[in-house]
Amino acid sequence: MTDPFDKCRLCTGSKCCTYITQHIPAPRSLTDFDFLLWQVSHQGVSVFQAGDGWFLQFEARCAHLQADRRCGIYETRPQVCREYTNDWCEFDEQAEKHYKLHFADHAALDAYCRKRFRRWDARHAPERRSA
Ligand code: SF4
Ligand code: SF4
Repeated sequence: MTDPFDKCRLCTGSKCCTYITQHIPAPRSLTDFDFLLWQVSHQGVSVFQAGDGWFLQFEARCAHLQADRRCGIYETRPQVCREYTNDWCEFDEQAEKHYKLHFADHAALDAYCRKRFRRWDARHAPERRSA
């Protein structure tokens, strides 16, 4: 097992500084999942369920991550960065995923919804066409 103090030195991607997550209410209905489907249709947006709930993930490299993989504002970095530990982080994630569910894109979420909801394909009311 890797010494946790060596992880950040060995970690070449600095993955923890290249995305943000946003906690969201657990989706339940057809409408909830249809809305998520719109969100994950955008490049760099994914959704996952972990032990502590559902989250949107946005791939977005932090502007303060320097070429040498150090934080450019280390002394004044935000609290969320200060509280983050490498006890279990993306470095470990490469070997063992912590997701219960993970949908990287529209196709993955659509396939899941198709299995979860019998009426998935019929969820949209017939569209009215103007004369
Ligand atoms: S906390 Fe984890 S993901 Fe972030 S730099 Fe260290 S080892 Fe890499
Ligand atoms: S502020 Fe620093 S520690 Fe926080 S995400 Fe950006 S580079 Fe990483």
